[in-house]
Amino acid sequence: MRSFSYGRPSDVRTALRMISDGEGAKFLGGGTNLVDLMREGIERPAKIVDIGRLALDGIEELPDGGVRVGALVRNSRLAADPLVRTRYPVLSQAILHGASAQLRNMATVGGNLLQRTRCLYFHDKAAACGKREPGSGCDAIGGFSRTSAILGTSGHCVAAHPSDMAVALAMLDAVVEVESLRGVRRVPFAEFHRLPGDTPHLETVLAADELITAVEVPPVPVAARSRYRKVRDRASYAFALVSVAAALEVRDGTIGAARLALGGVATKPWRAAEAEGVLLGAPATDETFHRAAEAELAAATPRPHNAFKIELARRTIVATLRRLRDEGGPDADGRDQGGRDQGGPDEGGPDQGGPDEGSAA
Ligand SMILES: Cc1cc2nc3c(=O)[nH]c(=O)nc-3n(C[C@H](O)[C@H](O)[C@H](O)COP(=O)(O)OP(=O)(O)OC[C@H]3O[C@@H](n4cnc5c(N)ncnc54)[C@H](O)[C@@H]3O)c2cc1C
Repeated sequence: MRSFSYGRPSDVRTALRMISDGEGAKFLGGGTNLVDLMREGIERPAKIVDIGRLALDGIEELPDGGVRVGALVRNSRLAADPLVRTRYPVLSQAILHGASAQLRNMATVGGNLLQRTRCLYFHDKAAACGKREPGSGCDAIGGFSRTSAILGTSGHCVAAHPSDMAVALAMLDAVVEVESLRGVRRVPFAEFHRLPGDTPHLETVLAADELITAVEVPPVPVAARSRYRKVRDRASYAFALVSVAAALEVRDGTIGAARLALGGVATKPWRAAEAEGVLLGAPATDETFHRAAEAELAAATPRPHNAFKIELARRTIVATLRRLRDEGGPDADGRDQGGRDQGGPDEGGPDQGGPDEGSAA
């Protein structure tokens, strides 16, 4: 690890001054991603601004029924929050499907949104990666592509976005609040992460001197009946091959409201707008669910080792929607009322034993 300077401000203004004051400065949240990348020599900040002391760790109900979450709220606390578990079970489940209990106890909301890809070629300094070294190419294209994205890719990058939490936030139309010395701005979640295009190193619209201060989740009534389903190589402590965040409301056999987002298959948290268009107002049948999945996946570009993701995503979308239609709403741990989530043949299911138990490697 290279040497760097370190500061630990106790107010936002000072933190913003410190980040603006010099090239190559980075904020430190929980450190679970940044410190690993520094050890690997992939991130080389000259200065670390540790934001652990900032008063950004509140969870509050908004007058309109939404929820405001401070950027420093730990993932485990957000998943366990009673408001979140009741109003947005999909968000609680998505978080609990990520990483391990120890990591979730450290990881922050802001850091989770900015975690870097797990693409093998990004982590291999001997490989070409335009995300790591702008303009250097992409060895993942033509390489081992099992975990690569099939949606939102470009001729410069096929890296899948790794976050589970962000998939739920995309489904919920969250808003990211960011602050710099220039002021505060609010970024709709759909615009926060960027498609790679020919600038894969630019992963979000956040400027280098901007701090994420909060995430606001608006009131989404249909989200009270929502679910996160994650398919992965192991039952816990693994990134998604495919994940689905979904919410569904059925009235007299017709879909009155539907939300859908995908993880593991795309270069950013993927709101499935095409699928939602098919679902809304249609009969809540398996045939409709299949059509919705087909519509979303029509744009998929598979590579030699990840064509299986198309079928896997199709099945996972259909299974998740079917489950929401057929059964009572799951609780926040992703379990059905009265039993543990068996998950079906292609799903790892949530961590064994609940949010803080048994999920570590
Ligand atoms: C073994 C392992 C398994 C994992 N499995 C999963 C998984 O299955 N699913 C999943 O979703 N995640 C997984 N993760 C990733 C984990 O969720 C992230 O490491 C974590 O969310 C990052 O949060 P952090 O607060 O530690 O971020 P940090 O490491 O502190 O920061 C990450 C980045 O965000 C920036 N940053 C942090 N906070 C702010 C802010 N407020 N404003 C501006 N910039 C900021 C930092 O500068 C840095 O660039 C895994 C991680 C590990 C190590």
